[in-house]
Amino acid sequence: MKTCLKCTCGHRIIRRDVMQKGQYNPHRIGPDYVYIKYRCSRCKKLGEHYVKQDEWADAMLHDAGTEANDEERKRFSTLGEITLNEMRSFHEALDNDAILLELKSDKDAQT
Ligand SMILES: [Zn+2]
Repeated sequence: MKTCLKCTCGHRIIRRDVMQKGQYNPHRIGPDYVYIKYRCSRCKKLGEHYVKQDEWADAMLHDAGTEANDEERKRFSTLGEITLNEMRSFHEALDNDAILLELKSDKDAQT
């Protein structure tokens, strides 16, 4: 029994990678299949999976982020919010970029 779906590259397929999901049983005999068309978020390739309806579980597509265990959740909560210092250095980085652009356009004007 499958617990998750994987791309041919080995990357796990999760809900947001799924482009199409449907029922598949073209001959109306034998078991129904769940048809999944996906685009791998790592290798960007398109692929398909057929999973027997009996073996299908929505949990196969659960994002690892929603399955964070207690330890991970604790770690995230201690990370806290973005600090003022972090904001400041972010804005400084933006300002530096702006200065570079100004210098460049000055230079262009002179030539
Ligand atoms: Zn892939």
